[in-house]
Amino acid sequence: MLELREIHKYYTVGSNKLHVLQGIDLSIGTGELVAIMGSSGSGKSTLMNIIGLLDDYDSGEYRLAGELMKGLSEARAAQLRNRHIGFVFQSFHLVPFKTALENVALPLFYRGVSRRERLKLAESYLDRVGLAKWADHKPNEMSGGQRQRVAIARSLITQPKLVLADEPTGALDSVTSIEVLELLRSINRDDGVTVIVITHEDDIAHLCRRLIHIKDGRILSDSPIEPKDPSGIVTRPTPLVLEPAEVLA
Ligand code: ADP
Ligand code: MG
Repeated sequence: MLELREIHKYYTVGSNKLHVLQGIDLSIGTGELVAIMGSSGSGKSTLMNIIGLLDDYDSGEYRLAGELMKGLSEARAAQLRNRHIGFVFQSFHLVPFKTALENVALPLFYRGVSRRERLKLAESYLDRVGLAKWADHKPNEMSGGQRQRVAIARSLITQPKLVLADEPTGALDSVTSIEVLELLRSINRDDGVTVIVITHEDDIAHLCRRLIHIKDGRILSDSPIEPKDPSGIVTRPTPLVLEPAEVLA
């Protein structure tokens, strides 16, 4: 599905050059369910953004479905994203003045699908995430877990081969987090979609089948794991604490 070879990424901040990814080698096959862990600032989102064609890299090679992804125009990157990749973010990124149904339908607008067809498909995807009855509600009328399910339905409506979730449970309590992960797992299991999840939480990571640790822009470890049964996880309320990097972001 995707292959990164010796990927380096720098950010220039003032007169400082920050070496954020320091030679990432990584192959992820079709149908994998991968968790990426690492402390704040270790380069997880940078890596995810490169994989998701939201950002370019400075050296190395990134191949998606065998095709070299380098120096793409913004239009081409947007087209590839719309065709192949679904995104789920910590803060949901829903459009506040649109209903759940309209939010889910939005990616199809960029494909030129008719409004009627878009809304019909959106209905089936909302149903898929258990929110058929919430179609006419705006995001601010929904709980965090429901908003994230709307975001997941939106990520799926283009039938992507790859779903990238950057701390999808970072703003959710632990019970809701596991529900959201269960949903991502079912998409992986039932639809064969490759899913990559960035998380800070061990419990969440251990619902996946492969665990990658990143530290200071390098892969520290990468190994298959035996996914846990979510019902076996002891849940606890998770206080919502933003990390400094996220406060700045
Ligand atoms: P993580 O997702 O693991 O918390 P990031 O990939 O977001 O880490 O960031 C890695 C490092 O790169 C951090 O030191 C962060 O401050 C820096 N960084 C991220 N994005 C930018 C940017 N657009 N400009 C400058 N520095 C950035
Ligand atoms: Mg991040």
